[in-house]
Amino acid sequence: MKDKLKNEMKTMPKIDLHCHLDGSMTLKSVEQILKRKVEPEELEAGNCCQNLAEYLDRFLLPLQCVQTEKGLRLAAKEFLLDVAKENMKYVEVRFAPLSSVHDRLDCRQVVEAVLEGLKEAETQCGVSWNVIACAMRHHPQEDSLAMMKACREYLGEGLCAVDLAGDEASYPMEGFRELFAQAKRLGFPFTIHAGECGRVENVLEAVEGGASRIGHGIALKGHPKAQKLCADKRIGIEMCPTSNLQTRAAEREGYPIREFMDAGLLVTLNTDNRTVSGTSMTQEMDFVVQEYGVTAEELGQFFRNAVEVSFANDEIKHRLCGLKLFR
Ligand SMILES: [Zn+2]
Repeated sequence: MKDKLKNEMKTMPKIDLHCHLDGSMTLKSVEQILKRKVEPEELEAGNCCQNLAEYLDRFLLPLQCVQTEKGLRLAAKEFLLDVAKENMKYVEVRFAPLSSVHDRLDCRQVVEAVLEGLKEAETQCGVSWNVIACAMRHHPQEDSLAMMKACREYLGEGLCAVDLAGDEASYPMEGFRELFAQAKRLGFPFTIHAGECGRVENVLEAVEGGASRIGHGIALKGHPKAQKLCADKRIGIEMCPTSNLQTRAAEREGYPIREFMDAGLLVTLNTDNRTVSGTSMTQEMDFVVQEYGVTAEELGQFFRNAVEVSFANDEIKHRLCGLKLFR
């Protein structure tokens, strides 16, 4: 029975809402851009990270690759062609434009290069996509606001939302209230990395501030009141099991996916960083089936939840609703 499910998992249509471009660059594209042989270990976190900050160090090499328009275009194109191999139907890929901006490359050039790469790949593989622009916690907030303003013209034209990412323990959510009030005024929907390795208060602040989705949300574990609030507001919870275990956001035992499902939260299953975490959507599905007894029906529910909370337009949502997602 499990073998049958394993085979079905490989071919079934998939949706990923939480996937970072820099952490999901294919080895081939990294080699092509850096013009040298790269060992997988140079990119993969494995199981040796002590915390989120150490995990984030694995992004140094991919970030070197996205400092030119050519690199950005290639990274985005190869990424989409890669996810197509596991029958991905829709992906929201996120990245931090400011991490590629320097005196010879402005924010618009950065965003346009990524959009071009994705468009080029879409004509070849047919995967639908949207881009989420991440503000990084360690960047000056006036720069993040300028980035959002520069991104505004692409909203609905390939870019669907903004996000807050980076080292949550060092930069708690309360410092970003005003930035996301501004994001709201600019008309952006947003998701926030919260409760990945911080306190449940970060999740609550993000929701109060208007986030319609939470990246990770592990800190909701053991907090039924906060869970109920998120469930009532139909907040999407973007869970990324492999990454959460690698960053020590959670332990293998007691990973709260079942607790969140039982609390009625809109759980979605995601990869976070395909390359840095050495994973794929198929692997994440297999992992939660093996480890936490998730059933085929429940996998289907994760993807239906993903359609509901995605930032896609109605046309894409309609198409995704028509997919034969697990049972
Ligand atoms: Zn993430």
